[in-house]
Amino acid sequence: MICDNISINEAGHLCFAGQDTVELASQYGTPLYLMDADRIRHNCRTYISAMQQAYGDNFEVIYAGKAASFKQMYRIMAQEGMSVDSVSVGEIFTALSAGFPAEHIHFHGNNKTERDLAFALDQGVGTIVVDNTEELTALNEMAGDKDIKQNILLRLTPGIDTHTYEAVSTGKVDSKFGFAIETGQAEEATKLALSMDGIVLEGFHCHVGSQVFDSDSFVMSATIMLRYIKEIQTKYGYTAKSLDLGGGYGVRYLETDPYMDIRSNILRVADHIKATCKELDLPVPKVMMEPGRSIVADAGMTLYTVGTVKEIPGYKNYVAIDGGMTDNPRYALYESEYTVMAANQANEPCDKVFDLVGRCCESGDIIQPAVSLPRNVQKCDLIAVLTTGAYNYSMSSNYNRFLKPPVVMLEQGESRMVVRRETLDDLIQYDF
Ligand SMILES: *Cc1c(COP(=O)(O)O)cnc(C)c1O
Repeated sequence: MICDNISINEAGHLCFAGQDTVELASQYGTPLYLMDADRIRHNCRTYISAMQQAYGDNFEVIYAGKAASFKQMYRIMAQEGMSVDSVSVGEIFTALSAGFPAEHIHFHGNNKTERDLAFALDQGVGTIVVDNTEELTALNEMAGDKDIKQNILLRLTPGIDTHTYEAVSTGKVDSKFGFAIETGQAEEATKLALSMDGIVLEGFHCHVGSQVFDSDSFVMSATIMLRYIKEIQTKYGYTAKSLDLGGGYGVRYLETDPYMDIRSNILRVADHIKATCKELDLPVPKVMMEPGRSIVADAGMTLYTVGTVKEIPGYKNYVAIDGGMTDNPRYALYESEYTVMAANQANEPCDKVFDLVGRCCESGDIIQPAVSLPRNVQKCDLIAVLTTGAYNYSMSSNYNRFLKPPVVMLEQGESRMVVRRETLDDLIQYDF
């Protein structure tokens, strides 16, 4: 199994977090998002304990809320001692509504509006990660008007290509995010921020990519960022207190994906950071990480019911399920791979190949092409798509006016709905 929260019981049913998926599907209906809260907590604790081992108390682990954002998630993050990243006022509002402390929110985005910034300032958001000069100028003026000194990090692009998929690679010089170090724009922004009365520059941020399986890119970006910090210290006498290395550690979508040992990778990066600081004669900064996917992905599974099986002899076979790109657009968007199982007959040999498709009016509405399933798969069978905890619920839509599935949280052997299923009335609630 790709994660140890997945098993098969005597009935041949797939179990998630020790609970029978066939029973969960009949209790809550399909399509259905399941989230294993114990696994989420376990992943948070892995990060926090490794960071503690590496840096003592001088660290912060920040959950990237865009991976999965709903109130219960923020309650768990608060309980686990995590900070959170928000990329919109909507995410901030969701976190605050769940009682998440504003001072532990980091606000990201490459085009925050003045309204967004005003909201963040008024709510007391702890850190704003400033992306560009317009934002810096606007924020300084607004903070001045409100008599606030706003804590910020400047988002920099260290110029690294993580060799992952183009759309999820963000650390290159030509990225839409942040100030490039190479071009001198980072230094200009740093000088500007240091001259501003409404701003407290806490340090620097970078985020180089996603679904990364080793620490090389973190080691490289840490080197570039620390050299930059040293250069700024030498030129302007300012020593950055914090260094945020972003998120991006990978998760297993397929059996063939490597295992990612988060702890040993964090320790490896830490050794490098400490050695580099020593070499550069810099104090070790407060190191921040922003994991999203690796906190929630393997805590998620989606269940669907088969509606139709279509065979086109000599060409292709299709299994159509009662969801689709509306609840999981990731294959349509960037050809993401997934492991798919027949949840009600999980011990049957998977000896026939099907494209698993949804019911949207798009030929591209594919959850996963060429998956192996039992040859007798038929209407009413239960299909599980694994590792759907990250960027599934949060990317879901109402395209074709399909209703979004509920999120059911599994914890300590119990199950509980934390986001309810949408209703037809929800769909028209904004329509005049
Ligand atoms: C998306 C994002 C993350 C989280 O990335 P994962 O790959 O989900 O860990 C962290 N920081 C920033 C700035 C991001 O945009």
